[in-house]
Amino acid sequence: MSGQTAQLNAIVAQRIEVSPGLIILRAVPDGWELPDFEPGQFAVLGWPGTAPRHEVSDPEEERANPDKIIRRAYSIASSSVANEHLELYIVLVPSGVLTPRLFALSVGDRLWLSPKFSGLFTLDEVPPDQHVLLISTGTGLAPYMSMLRSHLVCDEPRRFAVIHGARHSWDLGYRSELMTLDRMCANLTYIATISRPEEEPAPWAGETGYIQEVWQRGVLEESSEFRGSPEDTHVFLCGNPSMIITMADLLTGRGFKEHRRNDPGNLHVERYW
Ligand SMILES: Cc1cc2nc3c(=O)[nH]c(=O)nc-3n(C[C@H](O)[C@H](O)[C@H](O)COP(=O)(O)OP(=O)(O)OC[C@H]3O[C@@H](n4cnc5c(N)ncnc54)[C@H](O)[C@@H]3O)c2cc1C
Repeated sequence: MSGQTAQLNAIVAQRIEVSPGLIILRAVPDGWELPDFEPGQFAVLGWPGTAPRHEVSDPEEERANPDKIIRRAYSIASSSVANEHLELYIVLVPSGVLTPRLFALSVGDRLWLSPKFSGLFTLDEVPPDQHVLLISTGTGLAPYMSMLRSHLVCDEPRRFAVIHGARHSWDLGYRSELMTLDRMCANLTYIATISRPEEEPAPWAGETGYIQEVWQRGVLEESSEFRGSPEDTHVFLCGNPSMIITMADLLTGRGFKEHRRNDPGNLHVERYW
């Protein structure tokens, strides 16, 4: 076993293709316990630079240090309560270094998984009497799946709302699960929006446009009792940087304040890039 392979401490248990360029990967530690984590935290995944790239990715220049394990952060999508595997929701960045290699992984392959998980993008500092509004584009939904799978209790006074944006309906990962939760739990509202409805092969009956447009149209208030006011709500933003900037502007204009470790607020932001 080469030194590099010896470091690969986890096994791919499942690989679900959501759409071309979007996968849900489940990994289990090989011979060690998954550490406890707070929903919203991230793990670090790694795979050797010598590993092949997925066929649908850009060619890469020769790597200076091909033997080195390439490591990147990924939000955990699985429940911290069930804790039977670690689930990650990953988008292919065709020009990227690691994702083209992760997309070539198959069930049974080994990979490197960080032995502990970190991050402050959690419900930890949200008082239990505050409602929670989870806004994301693309794989920015991952931390929210972990939060809902771990913390959502149907019919509690605390309301959760998820607004998720993607280009196409087929890129809306976890849609079936979220639609089911929305139907079963009166205190959960799920709104999905697509930004390229003209490319849908069949008519799309849901929301269209960018998240910020959905927000400004008042869709959340129209479809639920959720008011999204700074007095009783904490908002989370994760995903595309321009969505984050625009939504943070709109929300701070409404009286929300960005949460920082030493300066608590009710607007929580996770930046992937
Ligand atoms: C805390 C944290 C959590 C993260 N969680 C997730 C997650 O749950 N799922 C996920 O897919 N990614 C997540 N990321 C992003 C991830 O760590 C990598 O940056 C991403 O997978 C690209 O890696 P790469 O090596 O293929 O590309 P790189 O070679 O590292 O990057 C190439 C360029 O691609 C761009 N880029 C990075 N991420 C994206 C993206 N998602 N979409 C479009 N362009 C991008 C950036 O401009 C970057 O400079 C997270 C990042 C952070 C910091």
